[in-house]
Amino acid sequence: MTQSLDISHAANADRASNPSKLNLAGMGFDTLRETLIARGIEPKKVNMRARQLWRWVYHYGVRDFSGMTDIAKVQRAEFEEWFELERPDITEALVSVDGTRKWLIEYGPNTEAETVFIPDVGRAGALCVSSQVGCTLNCSFCHTGTQKLVRNLTAPEIVRQVMVARDALEEWPTSNENRKLTNIVFMGMGEPLYNLDNVAEAIDTISHNEGISFGRRRITVSTAGVAPLIPELGRRTNAMLAISLHATNDDLRNELVPLNKKYNLKELFDAIRQYPDLGNSKKVTFEYVMLKGVNDSMAEAKDLLRLLKGVPAKINLIPFNPWPGTNYECSDWETIETFAEVLNRAGYSAPIRTPRGRDILAACGQLRSESVKQRASERRKAELAAKAAEAEGTAAE
Ligand code: SAH
Repeated sequence: MTQSLDISHAANADRASNPSKLNLAGMGFDTLRETLIARGIEPKKVNMRARQLWRWVYHYGVRDFSGMTDIAKVQRAEFEEWFELERPDITEALVSVDGTRKWLIEYGPNTEAETVFIPDVGRAGALCVSSQVGCTLNCSFCHTGTQKLVRNLTAPEIVRQVMVARDALEEWPTSNENRKLTNIVFMGMGEPLYNLDNVAEAIDTISHNEGISFGRRRITVSTAGVAPLIPELGRRTNAMLAISLHATNDDLRNELVPLNKKYNLKELFDAIRQYPDLGNSKKVTFEYVMLKGVNDSMAEAKDLLRLLKGVPAKINLIPFNPWPGTNYECSDWETIETFAEVLNRAGYSAPIRTPRGRDILAACGQLRSESVKQRASERRKAELAAKAAEAEGTAAE
C-alpha cells in the first residue's frame, strides 16, 4: 500500500496560472499573512490587510481586485501584481435531472478529480469533495479503486472545489440565509486520512468564521479506516467522522476494503472510540454499501448491532451503484428495507441513501474514468487519422 507520497505536501501557497503571481483563491489564513509580511506590508497593517483580503475572497467570492472597494486603489494595484483569483479549469460540468451537479476539475495534465453537489442532504445540500486524484485503497466495489493514485490534492485545491460550487450556485456572499450548500463531505475520490495535512488545512480555511464559514459540525470526513490517524483527525479538525464499514467480520472486510488487512475491525473500533467528543450530538456515521448476497443478510444486520455497541452511531445504507465491469449487484430493495428495520428497531437512525445523479455518472470515480476513456478513444481516433493522412501522403508521393 502506497501510503506516503513524495508530492503529498505540495506548496500551500500554490503558484497561480500566471507564474509570477500567487493564487489567493484557496490560500489559508496563515499563508496569506506570511505572504503579506514577505512582500513588505507594514507589520502593524498585516492583520488588517489579511482580514480585508480574506473577506473579499471567502465571504464575497470576488473574482477580481476592482471589487475590493475598502482597499485604496494604489494598494489594490499592488495586490493585483502579487496575486490572482483563479478558479480551476473545469473539464466537465453536469447537472442531473434530480438537481445533482458534478464537476470534473483539472489540476494538471491527466490530473482530474470530481466534486459533486447533492441537493437535499444535511440542512439543505452537501458538497462531496475529493482529497486525492485516484486512490490507493482498491476497495473491490469502488470504481475509484480501479484508477491508480495520481497525487494528493493540496489544501488550496480542496478549498477551490467549494469555491467552484459556490460560484455555480451563486452563493456569494456567504451569509445568504437560504443557502443551498450547507454541508461538506470528504466522500469524493481518495482517502482523506492519507492526505491529512492538506485536508486539515482546507477545513481550517472553509470553516474560518470570517470567510466561507462552514461550522465544523457540518463537515464530515469519511475514511476507509486508517486507524492510527482517526483520533488525530478529530483533534486537528473537530470534523464529524464517517467510517466506510461495509462488512461486519474481518474476512469479508479484507475482501471489500483491503485496508482492513492492515487495520482490522478491532483496531478500527479501538481508534473510533478515541475520537474526541463523541456523544449524542456527535455521532459517527457508518457507511454500509448494500451488496446483493455479499453483506446484506439479517445475521449481518445483527452482527452490525453487536459491533456498534457503545459507539454513538448512525448508519447510512448505500444502495450499491453499479459501474461497467463490476461483479457486484445492488441488494434487492426489500432486503435493504429489512436490513434498515433491524437497525431502526435497535434505536439507530439508518436512512437508505437514495441513488442520486445516476444520469450524470455520479458514482464515485465514474465521471473521471469516462472522461479518461473518452480521451483515450479520441487519441486513438486522432492516431488513426494521422496514420491515414500519412498513408495518403505516402501514397501521393
Ligand atoms: N476513502 C474514503 C472516502 C471515499 S468515500 C472512504 O472510503 O470513506 C466514498 C464512499 O462511497 C465510501 O463509503 C465508499 O465505500 C462508497 N462507495 C464507493 N463506491 C461505491 C459504489 N459503487 N456504490 C456505492 N457506494 C460506493
